Amino acid sequence: MADEGPAGRGRKGGRVSGPHPLPDMSCRKCGRSNPWVYVAPVVVEGTGTCICMDCAEARGWLDKAGNLKPGVML
Ligand SMILES: [Zn+2]
Repeated sequence: MADEGPAGRGRKGGRVSGPHPLPDMSCRKCGRSNPWVYVAPVVVEGTGTCICMDCAEARGWLDKAGNLKPGVML
């Protein structure tokens, strides 16, 4: 008597990662996804948030060179 259970097969592992090597980034202020330029990226478990340059600029967080001013808390 053959006693074939459905659980006899090995599991096929291997999760396919997305086509993009970088995680999706979205702005914490305006919600824009994948802004061209952003500051203060934070990536947790493949999901990233950041501040897009427009929001940083609008809040006066950038110096003349376009860098985040020291001491700015995000
Ligand atoms: Zn923004």
